Amino acid sequence: MHEDSAAPRLAVLGNRPPAFSSPLPVGQLNFPSWEKYEQNFRAIFERQYYTNQGPLTEELEAKLADRLGTRHAICVTNATLGLIMTAQALGIEGKVILPPFTFIASAQSLLWAGLSPVFCDIDPATHHLDPTRLTELLDRNPVSAVLAVNLWGGSCNPPLLTDICKARHIPIYFDSAQAFGCKVAGRPVGGFGEAEVFSLHATKILSAGEGGCISTNNDELAEKLRNIRSSYGVRRPVEVTKTANGRMSEAQAAMALMNLEDFDDLAARNRNQHEQYRKQLADLPGIRVIEPHGVDVSNYQYLICEIDPPSFGLDRNTLHQALRAENILARRYFSPGAHRCPPFNTLPSAAGQDALLATDALSQRVLQLPLGARVDSTAIETICALLCEFHRHAPRIAAHCKDAR
Ligand SMILES: *Cc1c(COP(=O)(O)O)cnc(C)c1O
Repeated sequence: MHEDSAAPRLAVLGNRPPAFSSPLPVGQLNFPSWEKYEQNFRAIFERQYYTNQGPLTEELEAKLADRLGTRHAICVTNATLGLIMTAQALGIEGKVILPPFTFIASAQSLLWAGLSPVFCDIDPATHHLDPTRLTELLDRNPVSAVLAVNLWGGSCNPPLLTDICKARHIPIYFDSAQAFGCKVAGRPVGGFGEAEVFSLHATKILSAGEGGCISTNNDELAEKLRNIRSSYGVRRPVEVTKTANGRMSEAQAAMALMNLEDFDDLAARNRNQHEQYRKQLADLPGIRVIEPHGVDVSNYQYLICEIDPPSFGLDRNTLHQALRAENILARRYFSPGAHRCPPFNTLPSAAGQDALLATDALSQRVLQLPLGARVDSTAIETICALLCEFHRHAPRIAAHCKDAR
């Protein structure tokens, strides 16, 4: 403690302990009540039925299909496996277009399915696939499908992208891992394109602990997916060349069913937390809370902001460091873009006229802050107050972090 007495007291400067005594994660981490949990798991124990399309998985699939307004909801082990299985069931080959500004699992799913990713840049204003660039790329580059991504509880404009693909007779499917419960023009996300894939990971609003769900209105595709999902036999066998044991267990289904009962409350809580951040950060220069794009109903499952270093006074990485020092585990989603991560960084599409400049620029500016079960309005107030302090003392923090490097 040999800082001069005028130094602001901040954990990043090393002159006081972190504002939060234990690490604050960014994700949802929604748990049902202990009473419900005990009751549901006791029932599994009494039935002695653990997996292979048990009664809870069946019930969950029926409820999800109902909520999503689709003919089929097929529950799987996680969204990544769901994406791989969907690519396989669609029977696509060769190249598939996707945005690089996404979680790495979107691109990795293509590799596992034996497909070659072709990255198409995003529109920095929406954070989603740029429809104009997509059209240009499709005209120059024959591909077998488009994998579009819905981010931050927003959407990539599925109706427009579906029209673009329909005109070219290629299938489109969606990584909707972050979009459960969202609506586009009054229609639930889930029914667009050939299929949509949701994640039921613990960090997502609807949690099975680990889990995923594929929704589709295509009966044939659904039957193929069910056959791919289990090598232990299914209701109606259809011919598929590869299978994967991508089933959901009864324990996962029980968790998801309990969270589904709480879903409207969870979404309302998220919306309130989002609004609190937006209000408290409204007058702070250089930091902007991103509103979910292109939806009329959002699940608000993530708090994403964009940092403008000249007006905030710190770049995103230094701000990230200052937050971490306070035990606020902010995340730099998605930094770098998938096209900069091995093995995708050697693909030819990441250069020349297809350079992914918008993704490169945005991935330097985006920061995710805590929202969900582990924060309340007091914690959010503290986080926002700290952000104000960081802005006020930006030169000192910047100098300190630069020296420490
Ligand atoms: C969470 C997420 C995934 C992966 O989901 P898992 O269920 O963990 O496999 C894929 N894509 C996006 C955009 C995600 O946010």
